[in-house]
Amino acid sequence: MDKFGLPARYLGTQRKSVWEEYVQLAADYNPLDLGQGYSDFLPPEHIISALDQVVKNKNVLLHQYTRGCGHPRLVSVLSKLYSRFIGRSINPNTEILISAGAYGALYCTIMGHIDDGDEVIIIEPFFDCYESMVVTAGGTPRFVPLRFNNNSSSELKSSDWTLNPEELENAFNSRTKAIIINTPNNPLGKVFTESELQMVADLCKKWNVMCISDEVYEWLVYEPQRHVRMASLPGMWERTVTIGSAGKTYSITGWKIGWAYGPANLIHNLHVVHRNSIYACTTSLQEAIAIGYEKELDCLGQDNCYFISLPRQLEQKKNYMADFLSKMGMRPVIPDGGYFMVANWSSLEPEIDLSAENDKYKDYRFTKWLTKNVGIQGIPPSAFYSEPHKALAETLVRFCFIKQDEKLRRAARILEEWKATK
Ligand code: PMP
Ligand code: GLN
Repeated sequence: MDKFGLPARYLGTQRKSVWEEYVQLAADYNPLDLGQGYSDFLPPEHIISALDQVVKNKNVLLHQYTRGCGHPRLVSVLSKLYSRFIGRSINPNTEILISAGAYGALYCTIMGHIDDGDEVIIIEPFFDCYESMVVTAGGTPRFVPLRFNNNSSSELKSSDWTLNPEELENAFNSRTKAIIINTPNNPLGKVFTESELQMVADLCKKWNVMCISDEVYEWLVYEPQRHVRMASLPGMWERTVTIGSAGKTYSITGWKIGWAYGPANLIHNLHVVHRNSIYACTTSLQEAIAIGYEKELDCLGQDNCYFISLPRQLEQKKNYMADFLSKMGMRPVIPDGGYFMVANWSSLEPEIDLSAENDKYKDYRFTKWLTKNVGIQGIPPSAFYSEPHKALAETLVRFCFIKQDEKLRRAARILEEWKATK
């Protein structure tokens, strides 16, 4: 036995994540990066100037530890905002946790609730850290993939992927502790409909299961779709922890501030984990984000609210990307939400030689080939599936479209030039 080997709870989760692998790939080959999910333009001016003022502020307390489970000004504005959307009064001190990004909030939720022997249903495709966090907590993931239903030759849409009611129902049993769902979904861009969420909610109530609802892309939903919050469905507030992220809201992923909200008895467990690990997140960043959210709250639903203007701005980028991917022979899947687009690349297969790559799954081989030979980086969507279901995503690639128009035009040109050589 190696005295300094990894503790047993981390065995099985030590493989590098797709993010580490593809960040390194980008560093090695310097492709045009449509991979990781972040924007290449500045966050809104009011957020930057808020931070600027906070950093220069002579109030010494803004430069010291703040309240551990969330800076008072930030939990206060979030409680006002979400109280409106959930239709009940949310207590800023007992029903919210601010942590180190949505990752931190997910970690506190999973560590605070999952115990040895608990089963956790994870809907696929899923954000990859769910699986490793559940396993580290001692739980057993049970995966339920969304199924693709579109045999026509028409345009592919994220809503073509749906839950099979029978498969979902069969995953629940008396050991089921929680279900994790992500809407709008990364990578598909699927926005779950109210009736789909209701089906999940009914099973949660039937089996006394909590729902972890990852809603980090809550403000990125394209007309005419609407984001439905799981916690707003009848009887679901009591059993739902909802995850949010300032990083995704304001294109400030590097600030790493996210949160969880839900009923006090569920959030208490998260507070315990956070208090004993991270303790408190950066005061100045939380203050600046609070100032930003206060502004959005004042103009909620109006054109100048960033929650409205950002998806409008992205709509054009989404359409532009769908167009250039189609022109080069891929079949883009039009997302209803988020800032990713997956596309089916299988029609290109006869024209390309993937034999230089030796990864097990074809989407890994394709994305590596694309980075090295064409100079564009995407992400292999099988990273968002459990081992037995990875084959479901092998013909897909994920691209990120929250990029400057100039960069998207360059991507279109590079792909067009490559296509012309075929
Ligand atoms: N959940 C999903 C679905 C995500 O796409 C991300 C993006 N990284 C996260 C959680 C983590 O968010 P954060 O950067 O706030 O930790
Ligand atoms: N949400 C980002 C993505 O899907 C996350 C990247 C990361 O975890 N490093 O691209």
